[in-house]
Amino acid sequence: MKKYIGIDIGGMSIKGIIIDSEGEVYCQGNIVTGWQNGGGAMCRNIKELTEDMLERGKIDRKEIVGVGVGCPGMIDSKNGVVIFAGNLNLRNYPLADMLHTILGFPIKVTNDANAAALGEATFGAGKNYSDSILITLGTGVGGGIIINGELFEGFNSAGAELGHMVIEANGNRCTCGRRGCFEAYSSASALIKKTREVMEDNPDSEMWRSYNLDTVNGKTAFEYPEDHAAKGVIDWYLKYLACGITNLANIFRPQVIMLGGGVSEEGERLTKPLQQRVDAQIFGGTEFSPVQIVKATLGSRAGAFGAATLAMHTKD
Ligand SMILES: [Zn+2]
Repeated sequence: MKKYIGIDIGGMSIKGIIIDSEGEVYCQGNIVTGWQNGGGAMCRNIKELTEDMLERGKIDRKEIVGVGVGCPGMIDSKNGVVIFAGNLNLRNYPLADMLHTILGFPIKVTNDANAAALGEATFGAGKNYSDSILITLGTGVGGGIIINGELFEGFNSAGAELGHMVIEANGNRCTCGRRGCFEAYSSASALIKKTREVMEDNPDSEMWRSYNLDTVNGKTAFEYPEDHAAKGVIDWYLKYLACGITNLANIFRPQVIMLGGGVSEEGERLTKPLQQRVDAQIFGGTEFSPVQIVKATLGSRAGAFGAATLAMHTKD
């Protein structure tokens, strides 16, 4: 059986997985990223992880068709070059060539968010659909777009930056320099910031009694659905999240929009009211072409699954 290796590079650790084309997992593992010691050290860690997985899984190198890699930052996926990755301190780094030299397998590289979208679309919540979008609600808002079973990355694979679509002109400042981005309203960070503001304005609220401003997290408001202040936070959050999702639904009209990242752990407490709001706003209504909103199912493994999926498209 042909097998594929997926590598998901994060700021702290690198996750690895070996799967077949059905998504069956033969081995997985992780290792420290070690970017502080340079790109070469990071690549040697990937080699160590790969060899460890092959050994533990008792897998012959001949069974491996290729290796796919998801990497944060701006990636030239055609040439496998990391154009810029601030979190890894890499610039114009020929990641695919480096890994090919030390591993000997064909290498494909894409952005980590795109890899996660491809993973969810192929083996997760989107597996029964041809058109899907993954939106991750974490520190930022990321994700990826799958059209007709293929990743849509834009020119030089620099597109699909879902988090940087403006949903409030002249709104809150975003990390990218613009104002009013989807990310500035719908990330876990934005939710936490809003929760703190509302708590300060409402010292009589349940949230204020149970949390202090340092312990507030993305779940705080959802824990008190009966509390008027918490309700205000959730209404605010759902309004902007529904706006961004509806925009994406109107442009791409996928069959399914999958939510990942920390905030998606709320499950139906999030997806149910969101579905109602999106259905009420979506262009042309829901009868002819409904868009389902669901929780992503692969969790933190989506990126590694997707990276391995990339390797399935390896031709040589
Ligand atoms: Zn932005």
